[in-house]
Amino acid sequence: MSDSKLNENGEKNSKIIEMTCIVCPIGCHLKVKVDEDGKFLSVTGNRCPRGAEYAKQEVTDPRRVLPTSVRVKNGELPLVSVRTESAIPKRLIFEAMKVVKSIEVEAPVKRGQVIVENLLDTGVNLIATRTVKKLT
Ligand code: SF4
Repeated sequence: MSDSKLNENGEKNSKIIEMTCIVCPIGCHLKVKVDEDGKFLSVTGNRCPRGAEYAKQEVTDPRRVLPTSVRVKNGELPLVSVRTESAIPKRLIFEAMKVVKSIEVEAPVKRGQVIVENLLDTGVNLIATRTVKKLT
């Protein structure tokens, strides 16, 4: 049973979080209503249902695509740019960066090549976003 206090209208206290939807370039300004425990209640300002999904996820389990770079051994460049194939939980970004900093891949590296499979058990691969040839 919740020990939440009710306001004078007999409703749970709530607050509005403002954010910009980043799902598409329109960038709708969202007002997300959450209860005092941070639970999603409702959203306004979204022009489409994807905005509602984004708002819900953003307050419960925010996710981001991680773009970074990995060291390359024997390559024409010392680093290769990489990113996660899709968004991973924001709370894992710090741990993910530790993994990224600890690895080095052998050249050649092909664009789209999987650098780390199933990064931190997220089910998401880390992939190269450019090609780095072997040093000749
Ligand atoms: S709510 Fe829909 S239209 Fe608005 S930015 Fe998000 S995805 Fe685009």
